[in-house]
Amino acid sequence: MNKLHIYLANLDHNFNVIRNQLSSNTAIFGVVKAWAYGSDMIRIAKRLEQLGVDYLAVAYAEEGEILRKGGIDLPILVFYPQSEGLKTIIDANLEPSLYNISLFKKFHQLLKQKNRKHYPVHIKYNTGLNRVGFNPSQAAWVLEQFKRNEFDLKSVYSHLATSESTENNSNNSQQIQAFLTIKKQHEDNPNTHPKFHILNSSGIFKNSQYEFDAVRCGIALHGFTNHPELDQKLKPLASLHSTISQIHKVKTGDYVGYDLGWKASKDSVIATLPIGHADGIARHFGHEKTQVLVNGRSAPIVGNVCMDMIMINISNISCKEGDTVVIFGPEHTASEFAISGGTISYEILSGIGPRINRVFHS
Ligand SMILES: *Cc1c(COP(=O)(O)O)cnc(C)c1O
Repeated sequence: MNKLHIYLANLDHNFNVIRNQLSSNTAIFGVVKAWAYGSDMIRIAKRLEQLGVDYLAVAYAEEGEILRKGGIDLPILVFYPQSEGLKTIIDANLEPSLYNISLFKKFHQLLKQKNRKHYPVHIKYNTGLNRVGFNPSQAAWVLEQFKRNEFDLKSVYSHLATSESTENNSNNSQQIQAFLTIKKQHEDNPNTHPKFHILNSSGIFKNSQYEFDAVRCGIALHGFTNHPELDQKLKPLASLHSTISQIHKVKTGDYVGYDLGWKASKDSVIATLPIGHADGIARHFGHEKTQVLVNGRSAPIVGNVCMDMIMINISNISCKEGDTVVIFGPEHTASEFAISGGTISYEILSGIGPRINRVFHS
């Protein structure tokens, strides 16, 4: 049956590569949102804790709460708190990223109600991605708030729109310039002494001059930098395996799958695997765009992907029912697999469905 193998020794390797890439006083936020990119948030967080990561980060308050229930004691930054999640943030001792005036005010009110002082918070600025964040023109308003003793400003950060592209990229430069201006405003203000950070995984390898005090690293911990050459330095954590449920011989002119998705142009052998949409294999992977590996040989996915199954062409491959099939693994990485279906490693990894067993290897 299907298994997502997770090799924790590769997490150690990737963490150490990243650690050595950074100057020694740069802190690492280990990003474990989305079930640690589809693996297991608690297992990965525990390993990162052992490796000496400085901070953890998640997207939503509920994810931080799961980490706390799992026994994680590290400080946890929540990137995108929603107003319904603010109470959970305080109850689970999480650190919110405050990204607009209304969220800021709601959180302030909650702190006052609970009579909390010096609560650790982070401020996110929008320097050009136009997703979430205070506008740089609101920096004076933000700084004014930190005269109050309810808050302790831990860090100020922003996020690049094109961190995976090389230096001298004008969009990056504009965002960095805006961030440097904000940084100066904060540094000139005696109310706060935050850390500053702007880089995610690909930024670490592409724009290392902008490390500032910390980096936020997610996909690189899982072995990907968004750049094929740099990926060589890292080792993918996850391998997705399936098995052959059934083998059919089809004759010239026979069809395979829903909507007669594939027509045999000659007598062929087809294997069916017990993995489909519900497990994270999107429709775009069908119609021979994507290969999987059967006993080391490439076999294309034929016809339409089904909810629970896919069919592959094994006409020239010697194999039998029950044999293991590599959907992705070291020989055919999640990133390569993703690209063949018109997507990226983030989507493949975080989209692996809950039906698939995660098997951890130390
Ligand atoms: C997810 C996320 C990251 C991690 O990005 P990677 O490319 O996976 O390293 C960093 N910062 C923010 C704000 C994020 O949402």
